[in-house]
Order: sequence, then structure tokens, then C-alpha cells
Amino acid sequence: MSIRGTLYTVSAPSGAGKTSLVNALLQQCADLTVSISHTTRPMRPGEVNGINYHFVDESEFTAMLEQKAFLEHARVFNNYYGTSRDWVEQTLASGQDVILEIDWQGAKQIRGLVPECVSIFILPPSLEILEQRLTGRGQDDPSVIQHRLAEAQLEMSHYVEADYLVINDEFDIALSELQAIVTSNRLRQENQRQRNANLLRDLLS
Ligand code: GDP
Ligand code: ADP
Ligand code: 5GP
Repeated sequence: MSIRGTLYTVSAPSGAGKTSLVNALLQQCADLTVSISHTTRPMRPGEVNGINYHFVDESEFTAMLEQKAFLEHARVFNNYYGTSRDWVEQTLASGQDVILEIDWQGAKQIRGLVPECVSIFILPPSLEILEQRLTGRGQDDPSVIQHRLAEAQLEMSHYVEADYLVINDEFDIALSELQAIVTSNRLRQENQRQRNANLLRDLLS
């Protein structure tokens, strides 16, 4: 894969706040964009096809899988989710940084494919608050919420595989921590060298 931008994965148990945090981060950081996954999950009230997800049925998903259209894919909560290979490759090649909001299984596949990716895990401040957020979001059936809570501890145990851990207690603090991760990564010498090639050439010639 030809890479110029940085690839980030953001994983968290359902309801921990990753979508809200990633959306807020995008408002504040230039040259950062989020991948829109394909999913077979039913659309929630208020979701828009092509904005929140590309919503597809199982036969479309399977056809895309056979065409190797996914960089990674996983079955999560009885639904399939996958990341578009072409979109990610083209966006990184254009120099933009890309966030994948994907589960731990997907993040593991991405680390195998793109070892220089930066992986972030978000955890809630308690199990009680996780339940309140999932219930308060009010978009999933009670049975779906119970299923997601039952899976939460298994999902959360995978935080040890990530490079960074953010606890989403106070929203603004968690947001500034995410910004710090992006900023410090952009200041890495090898990334600064790409961004400031002309300056470095002038300074050193
Ligand atoms: P939410 O995270 O509670 O809003 O629930 P979603 O239904 O949006 O996502 C369910 C799970 O699927 C989460 O763990 C996501 O991180 C994961 N997920 C979403 N898109 C993808 C994807 O393209 N690939 C993989 N592997 N996981 C995904
Ligand atoms: P995820 O994408 O991880 O499933 P969401 O971003 O949809 O989570 O957040 C779940 C719910 O919790 C939403 O209703 C959101 O507004 C709320 N939420 C997120 N972060 C916080 C926070 N720090 N404090 C209070 N509520 C939050
Ligand atoms: P939701 O259905 O609530 O939007 O997402 C449920 C879970 O699926 C979340 O943990 C989310 O991160 C994960 N997910 C969403 N898209 C993808 C994807 O493309 N790949 C993988 N592996 N997981 C995804």
C-alpha cells in the first residue's frame, strides 16, 4: 500500500462514545477524515446511507468480499462490517490521515497489514455509565442493548493490544487527549520531514 497519511484505528465497546468523539475530532483537525464502513446492520433512526455507513444486504457484502473490496472485515453483534480498501488507499495516498472506527478484530487485521498504523482504544469510566450511554442513545432495541453489554467486557479486554488508551469520562478531556495523539504523531520527525520537505531543503542547502 502506498502510504503518505497516517492510518488510525479507534476501537471501543458499543456506547463508549467513539463516534461522538471521532466526529468532534474531525471538526477540529484539518486533513483528517473517517472511513465510512459497509455494514449489514439495519439502519438506526436518523442514520443516513452513505453518511453513517454504506448499508448493504448480506449478498452484496459477500459479493464485495469475493471481489476483495475490503481491507478488513469482521462479524460484530451478528452483523458484518467492512472497510473499503480502495477508499482508504486513495485517501492515504492523497496525504490525508484516515480514522477507521472498527472493532478489535478489524484493528488486529489492520495492524498486520499496516504495522505503522496508530491504534487507539476508548473505554467508559464504568460499566454503569456504559449501560446508561447505550440506553440513553435510545437507538437500539432493549434486546440489542443487552447483547452489546454482554459483549462489552470481552471487547474491552482487547485494550491491551492498542498503542493508546483514552478513558471517555469528561467528553472534552477525552477529546483533547485524542487531539494530543494526532498532534504528537504529526510531529514525529519522519512525518514532519514529508510535510516540510521544502523548508528542510532550504535550511540545509
Ligand atoms: P456503535 O459502535 O455502538 O455505534 O455500533 P455500530 O453498530 O456502529 O458498530 C458495531 C461494531 O462494529 C463496533 O465495534 C464498530 O467498531 C464495528 N465496526 C464498524 N465498522 C466496522 C468496519 O468497517 N470493520 C470492522 N471490523 N468493524 C467495524
Ligand atoms: P459509540 O460510537 O462508541 O457506540 P456514541 O458516540 O454513539 O458511542 O455514544 C454513545 C452515547 O453516549 C451517545 O448518546 C453520546 O452522546 C453519549 N456520550 C458519549 N461520550 C459521552 C461523555 N463523555 N459523557 C456523556 N455522554 C457521552
Ligand atoms: P454500530 O453498529 O453500533 O454502528 O457498531 C458496532 C460496532 O461495529 C462498533 O464497535 C464499530 O466500531 C464496529 N464497526 C463499525 N464498522 C466497522 C468496520 O468497518 N469494521 C469493523 N471491524 N468493525 C466495525
